[in-house]
Amino acid sequence: MRKMQFLYALRSKGVTDKRVLQAMETIDRGPFIRGIFSARAYEDMPLPIACGQTISQPSVVGLMTQALKVSPRDKVLEVGTGSGYQAAVLSRLARRVYTVDRHSRLVREARVLFDEMSLTNITAITADGSFGLPDQAPFDRILVTAAAEDPPGTLMEQLKPGGIMVVPVGQSDAVQHLIVVKKTETGVEYDELREVRFVPLLEGLGKDT
Ligand code: SAH
Repeated sequence: MRKMQFLYALRSKGVTDKRVLQAMETIDRGPFIRGIFSARAYEDMPLPIACGQTISQPSVVGLMTQALKVSPRDKVLEVGTGSGYQAAVLSRLARRVYTVDRHSRLVREARVLFDEMSLTNITAITADGSFGLPDQAPFDRILVTAAAEDPPGTLMEQLKPGGIMVVPVGQSDAVQHLIVVKKTETGVEYDELREVRFVPLLEGLGKDT
């Protein structure tokens, strides 16, 4: 029942892509939330996780994933592992997912969940994702799940021609816009999806190492 309400909320907020809905039906959001908030795991709201961060609202995860148009052959980079939920959803749609977070604790905890769920095509790394992942670049798709003041140039460089990047853009204390960036052979196309609120993309590693 909770699962049906969860999927209904996604659809009513514009998540209509069948593959995305299927992936979100398969990946249980429950284990990604700990403590008292776990009771609210199936509600369409962002919730607090460790290191003062948040797991995104499911409908926003759905809309971002949908906008990324991931194909089964794609190599995807996610900046901002957080709980690991978004990466887990992406792992059902892509060939390989690299996810990075500046907090090593979040990366460690997410890895345990990926193992428990047998999601073997995710590599989680502690790193400052503003520099992307030069060793694994270029990527077919890049998803940034923290707010940047502009679409980060380094990440644009690590996107393949024909690639898509989805990134919340704006000041962290104000409303941000979800931007879809398409890199074509001749230039770059920008599309604006909706208003969102994300924690900021910060420089350097977190102080929990
Ligand atoms: N996608 C996550 C939610 C992300 S919250 C989920 O599904 O749960 C945003 C995350 O971005 C936080 O965990 C924060 O530590 C991380 N972050 C912020 N700036 C970063 C940076 N420069 N490099 C890597 N991660 C960063």
